[in-house]
Amino acid sequence: MTHRPKSYLAGLIGTGVGPSLTPPMHMAEGRAQGLDYVYRTIDLAGLDISPDRVGEVLGWCATLGFDAVNVTHPCKQIVLAHLDRVDPVAARLGAVNTVLFTAEGTVGHNTDTTGFARGFTEGLPGARLDDVVLVGAGGAGTAVADALLRLGTAHLTVVDLDVERAGALARELGDRYREARVEASSFDKLSVLLPEANGVAHATPVGMAEHPGIAFDATLLHPDLWVADIVYRPLDTALLQAARAAGCRTLDGGHMAVAQAVDAFELITGVAPDAARMSRHFRQLVANAS
Ligand code: NAD
Repeated sequence: MTHRPKSYLAGLIGTGVGPSLTPPMHMAEGRAQGLDYVYRTIDLAGLDISPDRVGEVLGWCATLGFDAVNVTHPCKQIVLAHLDRVDPVAARLGAVNTVLFTAEGTVGHNTDTTGFARGFTEGLPGARLDDVVLVGAGGAGTAVADALLRLGTAHLTVVDLDVERAGALARELGDRYREARVEASSFDKLSVLLPEANGVAHATPVGMAEHPGIAFDATLLHPDLWVADIVYRPLDTALLQAARAAGCRTLDGGHMAVAQAVDAFELITGVAPDAARMSRHFRQLVANAS
């Protein structure tokens, strides 16, 4: 009997996922690794499927032979109720972006948070975490906050235009990470918070090509502050330019975007990808898209 090498089928479930750079990133690395690896988008909006039917969509994917799917906005929380198992990091965060279809059923992981942590550790080695400010308490900000606390942040202050959202996230994080001090604050307090902080992580959409600008007063940046932006379209945001001009160490959003894909690729295929090659490819894709 001839032995057929394993092939891999993966997908990305979400709304408006058509332009995502994740499928080309995964497939190019699959080709480079000599794997037979297909990764497709499953755009719920385009298919006129309501996000609350994500459990059904997972069932179809399992039936059709998918090995795994990534799950993105707006399904990262909804999907939890439809999984057989959730790994502890994703369960603690309450959001899943990777689902594996295994012989024992569906298993959820969150490589946004593991990816931010890995990108942060590699891109800003030795960065101090005594006092950190997070600007943006949405889905991505939640994954970033979780990563910063897992990495050992002692005091985290969450700021958002939506003060209630910032407060709710700070309370949830405080309950989950009792060893840390987590507080919510408002934009007008940044003039007090940032001079004392070691670092600021930015997780609002401000700075994206379609939302140009900087979310907060850049004159508050100072050389003792590291600045991590998670916006990656463009990679060199106005915030990062201002941060470099102010003498800050910086981390661009490509680190998280690539590291979440690196972690997902390994979960899906069991093969450790070449992270540097994936990063080069991703940066080329972003350059070509702009
Ligand atoms: P979201 O809509 O869930 O949350 C955005 C948050 O920012 C909201 O709480 C909102 O109140 C706040 N906000 C909006 N405008 C603001 C402003 N002007 N000032 C202050 N706060 C403001 O969005 P999200 O999914 O969390 O994504 C946020 C950004 O992160 C997007 O730019 C997205 O592209 C980026 N992102 C990057 C990665 C990565 O891998 N690098 C992953 C996910 C998201």
